[in-house]
Amino acid sequence: MNQLQDQIWDAVVIGGGPAGLMAAGELAAAGHRVLLAEAKPSLGRKFLMAGKSGLNLTKDEDLVQLLQHYGSAAKALTPMITAFDATAVQDWARALGQKLFTGSTGRVFPETMKASPLLRAWLGRLEQQGVTWRRRWRWTGWQGDMLCFDTPEGAVQIKAGATVLALGGASWARLGSDGGWVQPLAAQGVTLQPFQPANAGLLCDWSAHMQAQFGQPVKGVTWQAGPRMSRGEAIISQHGLEGGGIYSVSAAVRDGADLRVDLLPDLSLAQITERLARPRGKASLANHLRRCLKLGAARTALLQEFGRPLPQDPAALAVRIKALPVKHAGLRPLDEAISTAGGIDWCELDGDLMLTKRPGIFCAGEMLDWEAPTGGYLLTGCFATGRWAGRGAAAYLAQG
Ligand SMILES: Cc1cc2nc3c(=O)[nH]c(=O)nc-3n(C[C@H](O)[C@H](O)[C@H](O)COP(=O)(O)OP(=O)(O)OC[C@H]3O[C@@H](n4cnc5c(N)ncnc54)[C@H](O)[C@@H]3O)c2cc1C
Repeated sequence: MNQLQDQIWDAVVIGGGPAGLMAAGELAAAGHRVLLAEAKPSLGRKFLMAGKSGLNLTKDEDLVQLLQHYGSAAKALTPMITAFDATAVQDWARALGQKLFTGSTGRVFPETMKASPLLRAWLGRLEQQGVTWRRRWRWTGWQGDMLCFDTPEGAVQIKAGATVLALGGASWARLGSDGGWVQPLAAQGVTLQPFQPANAGLLCDWSAHMQAQFGQPVKGVTWQAGPRMSRGEAIISQHGLEGGGIYSVSAAVRDGADLRVDLLPDLSLAQITERLARPRGKASLANHLRRCLKLGAARTALLQEFGRPLPQDPAALAVRIKALPVKHAGLRPLDEAISTAGGIDWCELDGDLMLTKRPGIFCAGEMLDWEAPTGGYLLTGCFATGRWAGRGAAAYLAQG
């Protein structure tokens, strides 16, 4: 390939995460010559990390249910997710040779649970489609119409007929999504909503009593903050509370809602009161709780930590157990969040996800201003917007 060909491309996709890979595939399928540029030494690092705890690809829900989880961005995301819904995600993964299973809660995973076999197959297909990729190419912005990159060979400028930016959010910076794209976009006058942690753990100033519980799961409880409710598990860590149960309610906590936990969601207030009123004899309160409620060590420790002084009256104690206020010091830092809220404001994008201020530049994935709980909604949103932006860019190129 001569040097000129190397500098002029039909389409350049920047960011090799799920949204960028999806966009690159769509552009190549439409017959375009595509360059995929990635800042890190390898592609899909966050995607691979997502697979470490079980790659939850989507949630097997109908479109109406699925869309509800995207909150205030649901309307903007409706066309993209309608065109690539939970069924489409599953068909796509199966077409890449992945056997899938659906858990009891509707979450869909590859049978291997990992992301690496899917990523390998996906990159293989992109290669067959003729997509060229460059790693360690960090996009730094524009100079006029040229895309500028810092590369191991020095500064490089590229001309593209259309560009898809899929640079991720601003958490887990070590995997590549460091939010560094904010400066070049802000310099173009693009409105950006501030990044905020989404699906984040909680910071708790634990008393010394809690040390024995570090690493222990809290199961069978219901977390509630504002309108959000979750029956997911949490882990008591040195820093606070982590895990799906907390992540699901963290957006409401971030927005100022009080967090409460129902330690016995399957028992009514009356049932708990009745059990607590049983004769206690000489048993300590802790033993009485253990015997009549079978709370277990982790839930009892939370009750003691957050509920002290515990009421002696059975009815009042039952109320405390059903709606225990969780005392915390806020969410874990942005970089540790599973995902980020904020990013490119929807008012800057047309129906094809093209920046109205920069025709020919499309945006996709977590860099757009939307958030969703864990449960496969994040990847589904990234796949759907990546595919949509890729198709939009292909249509733009077709117009000449
Ligand atoms: C621990 C963990 C577990 C998760 N588990 C799940 C799960 O099970 N299910 C789910 O739905 N979601 C999960 N997620 C979230 C999901 O991984 C992300 O939402 C998704 O990867 C975002 O995709 P993206 O393509 O928008 O961005 P990213 O995957 O972040 O990709 C962006 C890419 O752009 C590159 N880049 C950034 N800046 C530049 C630049 N200037 N120049 C060139 N390249 C650049 C980055 O290096 C990166 O490769 C998890 C996340 C984490 C951290």
